[in-house]
Amino acid sequence: MVWGNKRFNNIDYFLKEKFGEKVFKVSLDGGFTCPNRDGKISTEACLFCSESGSGEFAGDRRKTIFEQIEEQIEFLQKGKERKYIAYFQNFTNTYGKVEYLRKIYEEALSHPNIVGIAIGTRADCMDREILELLSEINKKTLLWIEIGLQSSNDKTAQIINRGYTTEVFLKKVEELKERNIKVLAHVIIGLPKETEKEVLETIYFLNKIKIWGVKIHLLYILKNTKLYNYYEKFPWEIMTKEEYIKIVCRVIKVLDKNIVIHRLTGDAPWKDLYEPKWSTDKRGILNGITKELLRMDIFQGRGE
Ligand code: SF4
Repeated sequence: MVWGNKRFNNIDYFLKEKFGEKVFKVSLDGGFTCPNRDGKISTEACLFCSESGSGEFAGDRRKTIFEQIEEQIEFLQKGKERKYIAYFQNFTNTYGKVEYLRKIYEEALSHPNIVGIAIGTRADCMDREILELLSEINKKTLLWIEIGLQSSNDKTAQIINRGYTTEVFLKKVEELKERNIKVLAHVIIGLPKETEKEVLETIYFLNKIKIWGVKIHLLYILKNTKLYNYYEKFPWEIMTKEEYIKIVCRVIKVLDKNIVIHRLTGDAPWKDLYEPKWSTDKRGILNGITKELLRMDIFQGRGE
C-alpha cells in the first residue's frame, strides 16, 4: 500500500486527496497561557515545555490572527494563492472564554487562503460549551484537535507532569468523536524511563481507541526547560539517531493504517538545544526512516 509516494498514511496525502493540491500550515499564537503553567493545575509545566509553550515557530502574539496568517504566508514563500491550515500551536488553545475562542477561530477562517483549522490543546481543557463551539466549527470547515498525550503510561505522565491521567484523555477523545471531530495525539519517543516497549504500548492504545491522527516527536532537551535540570539530576543514555529511526519504523509497522501520520520527528530550535545534537538533522532522520522502511519492506499497519 502506498500513500502518495510514502509507505505510511500521511497528512500531505490526506490534504491533497481532500483539496486536490498540496496544502501548507501556518502556525499561530492565539495569546493563551496554559493551566499547567499558570497555577490552575500546576505552576511547573510539562517537563519538556519551553518558555514559548512548545511553539517555537509560531506567529507573533502581539499581532492579530489575520496579520499573523499574512506574515506566515509571506515567510513560508509557498505562494499567496495557495491553501493553508491555520494551526493554533503554542500553549493551550482552548484555555479561554468561549466568545474569545469563537472570535479567533472565525478570524482565521475569514482569511481567504485558510481551508481548515488545527487546534493544539489539553484533554482537560474543553468543557461542554467549548465542545459545542468546536462542533459548530467542525460543520463548516476541516477541523482537527491536537492533544499532547505523549505516552499512555500514567507513570510517565506523572514524571513529565502532564497533569491528567490517560483516562481523562480517553474520555475527551470519546466526547470529541461523538461530535465527529477529528483528534490527533502527540507522542514522544525517548521520554525518561521509557523503552521501545512503552512506546509501542502507547501506539497499541491509539490503535484501540481509533484515533484519527498522530504526531511522533523525538524528545529533545532544551536548555531553558525543567527537562534540562531533570536530566542533570537523573541522567540517562541519549538515544542515537539509528536507534530513533529503528523505533519509528517499528511504530509505523504496528500503527493502524487508517491513522494519519502528521510528523515523524521534532523541530528542535538549535540555539537552545542541549541533546540530542543529531536532532537538528531533520532531513537525515527522515531519509533514514525512508531507507529503513524500504530495506525492511515495512508499510504502515503491516503488523508484527
Ligand atoms: S500542556 Fe502544553 S503548553 Fe501546557 S505545560 Fe504542557 S506542553 Fe506546555
